[in-house]
Amino acid sequence: MQLLSVRQPWAWAIARGRKPVENRGWAPSYRGRLAIYASMRVDLLAAEEPLLWFTGWDPDDPVAAIGGIVAVVTLADVCSAAMSGETCDCGEWARPDAYHWRLTDARPLARPVVSVGHDGHMADVIPVRTIGQPAGHADQAALWDPGPAVVAEVTAAAHLA
Ligand SMILES: [Zn+2]
Repeated sequence: MQLLSVRQPWAWAIARGRKPVENRGWAPSYRGRLAIYASMRVDLLAAEEPLLWFTGWDPDDPVAAIGGIVAVVTLADVCSAAMSGETCDCGEWARPDAYHWRLTDARPLARPVVSVGHDGHMADVIPVRTIGQPAGHADQAALWDPGPAVVAEVTAAAHLA
């Protein structure tokens, strides 16, 4: 399992299976389970994005939380068509200037798995640098490998056998 930091409200939309494409400027070689970490920073421009409202955005939903893992999805494929100016069938979320990370099997967690700020028992396994990064920062071009304690907690919370 790898971990991807996503700002709200997009982490929510991914967690609820309503945003099956994540646009990024880079393509990972990794495929498989991806823990969606809702970062401490919120995308303040999202309120102007019509697609968000069509998804039924609900700020009171537990997976609308910040600063924790809110879902597990499967990174099934990465579409690079748009990067070479080609069309694809990734749908309305796909942007023309990005790799399209195709996400399937979204499993929202009933309660976010919080990495830091409580008793600190997991502070060593989710990198603090995932928190509070400005958008487009170079450090965002990475996936993180959560430690065994986080994987175990997230696996249980997502009811992954
Ligand atoms: Zn595509």
